[in-house]
Amino acid sequence: MGVGMGNGVGGGGMGGGAVRLGLVGLGKIARDQHVPAIAANPRFALVATASPHGGLDGVAAHADLATMLGAGHGLDAVALCTPPAVRAGLARLALEAGLHVLLEKPPAAGITQVADLEALAARGGCSLLTTWHSRETAAVDAARAWLAGRRVEAVRVIWREDVRRWHPGQDWLLAAGGFGVFDPAINALSILTHILPEPLALESAELGIPDNREAPMEARLRLRHGGVAAVDCALSILPGGAQQWDIAIDTDAGALLLSEGGHRLAVDGTAQAFDANAEYARLYARFAGMIDAGTRDVDARPLALVADAMMLGGRYRLPAFAF
Ligand code: NAP
Repeated sequence: MGVGMGNGVGGGGMGGGAVRLGLVGLGKIARDQHVPAIAANPRFALVATASPHGGLDGVAAHADLATMLGAGHGLDAVALCTPPAVRAGLARLALEAGLHVLLEKPPAAGITQVADLEALAARGGCSLLTTWHSRETAAVDAARAWLAGRRVEAVRVIWREDVRRWHPGQDWLLAAGGFGVFDPAINALSILTHILPEPLALESAELGIPDNREAPMEARLRLRHGGVAAVDCALSILPGGAQQWDIAIDTDAGALLLSEGGHRLAVDGTAQAFDANAEYARLYARFAGMIDAGTRDVDARPLALVADAMMLGGRYRLPAFAF
């Protein structure tokens, strides 16, 4: 269902056997999070990788998805961890081959692509999971529960990280379809769309784009929650300054602060204690459950907010940027 969120029911499940998984795009997030999460979940067997360079010890390596699909691995599913611009084309190829698909965030480079993939998955009875890893923390669970039944009065988001520190050399991020500042900031939007009780609508945006790049490195968004409460977002990946990933929410019955990208929560100034976070363990557990049940979980709301910012936002120029 594209812009909204769906929990479609598909065809059959796997009957409880190990899911033979292929990992596509063997970069930072695949190596840091997906590989350990897959290894720790006995429901998955990582049998092949597809990425232009490199591989994993003991796992068949291919340079691209088409070659991996043709290699006779008997795959059941793929996880797509490439940059977003190529994700939809790869997902289409995998779904056409009858595979279940897990999509890293953002699920595609455009919202119409997500609806296309969801329809294709539904036709083939395949599971499709649009992951939003920042939602998968105990602090975010608690924030969502705390907000239910309260009236939201104002929201302030500050999301800024130094692109040279967190994304060294990732030129794709500053190209068309690379999302720029929204590559990290869509994580904040994924948390907001998950924990706030009412819909969010974009009112206005300003986007700062370097002279020599296609994607914004700085953005200011103003949204409304439930048509009433102001939501102000100050977003940046420019070098220097403090690293900060905070969401502050005032309500009619107290205030909360989610900090460190959704890993810490304070209510009325008092820090809440949580067990260790396991974002990717939760995502793979959910993917296995969806494959067993033959369901899909597709939510493009964070992507729709980014698309609106790109559509409505005024532009200003920033100096040329080099890594
Ligand atoms: P990355 O380090 O640049 O890795 C991307 C990988 O995809 C590279 O290994 C690249 O190969 C490969 N690739 C590119 N095109 C491909 C294709 N057509 N088929 C197969 N593989 C292809 O990027 P990343 O930081 O891991 O980010 C990837 C995605 O994960 C992004 O959407 C990002 O938003 C998301 N994510 C990242 C983080 C993070 O902390 N970095 C956290 C959560 C989510 P070569 O470089 O060898 O050409």
